[in-house]
Amino acid sequence: MTKTAITPILVLLVCQGCVSTGAAPNAAAPKVVLIIGDGMDDQQITIARHYLVGEAGALVLDGMPQRSAVRMQTVDEANPSLPDYVPDSANTATSMATGIVTSAGRIGTTAGTDRDAVTIMELAAAAGYGTGIVTTASVTDATPASFVAHVNWRLCEGPRSMVPRNQSGGLFAGNCSADLKANGGKGSISEQVAASRMDVVLGGGRQHFDQPAEGEATKTVADVAIENGFAIVRTADELGALPPDGGRVLGLFSPSTMPVRWRGAGDAKAERVQRVDGRPALPDAFPCEPNPDFASMPTLPTMARTALELLDGGPFMLMIESASIDKQSHLRRPCGQIGELGQLDDTLKLVLDYARAHPETLVLVTADHSQAAQLIPETSVLAALNAASPGAFARVRTPEGALMGVNYATNDSNVQEDHTGADVPLFASGPGVDVIPSSLRQPEIFGLLLRHLGLTAPR
Ligand SMILES: [Zn+2]
Repeated sequence: MTKTAITPILVLLVCQGCVSTGAAPNAAAPKVVLIIGDGMDDQQITIARHYLVGEAGALVLDGMPQRSAVRMQTVDEANPSLPDYVPDSANTATSMATGIVTSAGRIGTTAGTDRDAVTIMELAAAAGYGTGIVTTASVTDATPASFVAHVNWRLCEGPRSMVPRNQSGGLFAGNCSADLKANGGKGSISEQVAASRMDVVLGGGRQHFDQPAEGEATKTVADVAIENGFAIVRTADELGALPPDGGRVLGLFSPSTMPVRWRGAGDAKAERVQRVDGRPALPDAFPCEPNPDFASMPTLPTMARTALELLDGGPFMLMIESASIDKQSHLRRPCGQIGELGQLDDTLKLVLDYARAHPETLVLVTADHSQAAQLIPETSVLAALNAASPGAFARVRTPEGALMGVNYATNDSNVQEDHTGADVPLFASGPGVDVIPSSLRQPEIFGLLLRHLGLTAPR
């Protein structure tokens, strides 16, 4: 979008998440850790629990003292008075980061009118608080981007992606011409991250920083970030070598999304059920195995621990995203989802340990939207009638020795699954969480963040 400054009156007009639930603000260096499991609905949590700790076990997530349901809201871009019942990560993260309701694909901007909405990170930075983003996606991907940037389309991740082109078979072609600096805008998402006041940004997405910044012949976006005071780290070793008071850090550990922890044995994934003489031939069962590409990566808990160390000592707002629950469900890869949710659960344990030592910390864990994967019978109860899944289907052999049926059937393409539109959970721990309602609208999460941090949306 073309504005160059936050417009307070806009926030007053569009902020629908500013209604407080009455949680008491915390006077002593308030801290928030918001963990977003991308696509982490109850199906995903249950599938992961069965594999990770067994049917009778409990995840760290399951032990959170407060649990609510979150009702997502999305509107149609062409007619914002109409709801769009299945959201994406851009509009849902924008809801949590800014309190507004917007259309799918938008990053921190309003549906139809393309105006900027101030983010919780911008408000926290303006108040002198520490700010951090940690993700297993590109740091320019929709969820992290919505906390730090303002563009009209999520795929405008770098200077080379700002104008229409054929992307993913034309599915996601967007136009960010109005956001070009040459047209008075703020530039691509990576350029906005580089120019931001964030203290810690860790994840993937190096390709969007290793290209010339708009209007520069030789200076890359990474160069601009360094000029703006970021130290850039690119490997797990470099991350581990950071001093605790190492200043502002931008970590870029992979060209795009970071490799996931697990995959199906032999790289197996869900497959369509074949028919032999009319009878279903179910795909071979498989367990999960470590993904070799993950070995050189910093883990999500490692990145989260580093962010907490760098932000410790003052008030802060930290968002941590476990991105590939969604991305692996799109690709019909149950083990990728399970391993990624395991990373989230390990990270939550670390964050709760931190919060025990820093009781002024509000810990929220939620999802942005629900996803395709379903837990269904490993063999249909109608098998005698030769019934089987019409979708892509996996039989996952769990450490308990049983078979778990995971199904994907939102569309019949060979490309990827769609999102789904059901409510998602919100888990909470920390001061004031007992007054969070049992069901709330997603933009109201912004109000929870504001309230705990003692911030108000500008008027
Ligand atoms: Zn997705």
